[in-house]
Amino acid sequence: MSIPNRVDIAIAGGGLSGALIAYRLRLLRPDVSVALVEQGASLGGNHTWSFHEADVSPETREWLSAFVCRRWERQAVIFPNYHRVLETPYCSISSSRLHDVAAPRLGDGLVLNADIEEVMADGLRLAGERVINAGAVIDARGARQSDRLALGFQKFIGQELEFTAPHGLDAPVIMDASVPQEDGYRFLYVLPFTEKTALVEDTRYADGASLDREALRKGVADYCASRGWTISKVLREEEGVLPIALAGDIEAFLDESEAGVAPAGMRAALFHPLTGYSLPDAAALAELIAAQEDLSGPALARLVRDHSVSLWRRRGFYRLLSRMLFSAAEPDQRYKVLQRFYSLPQPLIERFYAGETHLGDRARILAGKPPVPVSRALGCLGEAKYLKRAMGAERQEA
Ligand SMILES: Cc1cc2nc3c(=O)[nH]c(=O)nc-3n(C[C@H](O)[C@H](O)[C@H](O)COP(=O)(O)OP(=O)(O)OC[C@H]3O[C@@H](n4cnc5c(N)ncnc54)[C@H](O)[C@@H]3O)c2cc1C
Repeated sequence: MSIPNRVDIAIAGGGLSGALIAYRLRLLRPDVSVALVEQGASLGGNHTWSFHEADVSPETREWLSAFVCRRWERQAVIFPNYHRVLETPYCSISSSRLHDVAAPRLGDGLVLNADIEEVMADGLRLAGERVINAGAVIDARGARQSDRLALGFQKFIGQELEFTAPHGLDAPVIMDASVPQEDGYRFLYVLPFTEKTALVEDTRYADGASLDREALRKGVADYCASRGWTISKVLREEEGVLPIALAGDIEAFLDESEAGVAPAGMRAALFHPLTGYSLPDAAALAELIAAQEDLSGPALARLVRDHSVSLWRRRGFYRLLSRMLFSAAEPDQRYKVLQRFYSLPQPLIERFYAGETHLGDRARILAGKPPVPVSRALGCLGEAKYLKRAMGAERQEA
């Protein structure tokens, strides 16, 4: 594989955000040379990324549809005292589809199996002292730890399973929280890909980031047994520990990035504070970058910083809800917050996931008898103490 010496834009990390930005630039700005550098043998690693169709704008939906490997017209949620089907379409993108669609567009600009040792404002240093010089650099190497963000975690193991007989589902179950509540808010997530296969994930909203793989695998197996699904084969497994934002100092977080480099994806804190999902933000950022006239390094670094700070500020309400979920509710009672939320009107739920909740929605979400003790809910109002705690914990670990 030949590695370009110099390009207009070098992107570090061919995961979700890096691949979408490179793809969109190639389509809309063929005059701009792009190098996308990924340490793995293919783009995207091992993920199934999903989103509610209402999370992305109609323009974004149009080009993103090339990546969608499965789309459903509706989705369901199940709680101990409540069951609902929402008529909101739901879509999934697999990492193999991400690779198959994006890689051919990138041609020689795609550099796989290459470890980046240093991300600089004017290029990337790869292992073996090879350097790609660039007019602008985007750092899309995924989440990074920082004591400037106070986090809870959504962690899961998902197994793509084949069953001996049809499972009978024709829509995804986004949350089945009618299961025993363990390690925080626990639910099963089921994407029925074909009539005999499905991705089944055991998910927990927990305080700690550690993943008990055996417990989660057993959770998946027990759930399938309880639904009467006999597993004939485990086709694939994926896992995740996603950040849930409780509080943060976004400017200080971004200041930790390399000066003059534009961060992207999780590295720019571009994720939904309460779900940890980043696909809609990654697609929107790809759209935003490709629409810029000025693609110089300083202009891109400024653009992404302003975008990230502005989204973070607009999303304070979701961080408040995250704090209520994590610290006002006892771990085994956390499901009640979601159960109540899912009784609200469908358009409000769609705006919530799309990060478009307006003042009236907020009032409705918080109105009525709260599913958590009022005194503890009031204790969640400010971000400062959470951030202080996160910074203290980080120092102690160091
Ligand atoms: C299993 C899983 C499922 C998820 N499901 C969803 C979902 O359904 N919907 C949703 O919106 N979000 C989901 N998320 C959350 C989030 O969207 C993903 O974490 C997403 O992949 C983040 O995108 P990113 O581009 O920031 O980072 P990543 O996709 O993690 O990409 C970072 C890339 O950088 C590469 N890299 C890192 N360091 C180097 C280096 N030194 N040299 C070269 N390359 C390097 C990595 O190999 C990787 O490919 C999921 C996360 C996980 C882990």
